[in-house]
Amino acid sequence: MKSKFFMVAAMAAILVGCGEQNSNKLKMITEATFPPYEFLRGQEIVGIDVEICRAVANKLGREFQAETVDFDSVIPAVISGKADLAAAGITVTEDRKKNVDFSIPYVKTGIVVIYKKSNPFKDVKQLKGKKIGVQSGTTSETFVLEQLKQEPERSKSPAEACASLKSGRVEFVIADIDPAKNCVKGEPDLAISDFITSEEYAVAIKKGQSELLKTINETIAELKKSGQLQKWIDQFTKESDALKDK
Ligand code: GLN
Repeated sequence: MKSKFFMVAAMAAILVGCGEQNSNKLKMITEATFPPYEFLRGQEIVGIDVEICRAVANKLGREFQAETVDFDSVIPAVISGKADLAAAGITVTEDRKKNVDFSIPYVKTGIVVIYKKSNPFKDVKQLKGKKIGVQSGTTSETFVLEQLKQEPERSKSPAEACASLKSGRVEFVIADIDPAKNCVKGEPDLAISDFITSEEYAVAIKKGQSELLKTINETIAELKKSGQLQKWIDQFTKESDALKDK
């Protein structure tokens, strides 16, 4: 009796295992507070990264699903296999390359300093010892830790970091250019610096999946060549700008 139960349990476990492995769903993990790359349109997660991943799913003939978590949980979700691919304006870094494989890049960008015009930013040296807001888990956080050798003030989202600059809780914020532009929009007292780093965004997946990586790279190359990627950049920039204006 007991052994029969175990057999049924074991078979059920195998079936569940197979179900996950062969699941027809391609699951994207992201952090939907990062327009125009990913943001919420009502309940729906939309943006440039979402369309790139949907295009990968279409190419594979798989159903597509996107889920949002905090930025510092995005890469762990592909490492653990909870999601198939991560796209969240993720910068390719040597450190991250130790844990995940990256696709070819799809955007060249970087981080900037957001400051109050009454307290102008001149150079990186000036940031030393100051209270600096960043989003947790980002390259901006790494910049403060490694270049300035100090602890940043961490926030869950770029908008939260921006709010702490406005309220005076921090003196400067470091962020990617797109959230920085959102932060200063309609705020005549705020400004952004030139790029202080040069970065590239790519899709991240669990290591060692050469077939999936190949498909992602082919998809990105096609989207660049056809001009579709640029169309999405324009479309979602327009849509997310309009959201901010409301
Ligand atoms: N590009 C930055 C990074 O990868 C921030 C991305 C984000 O906040 N979504 O760390």
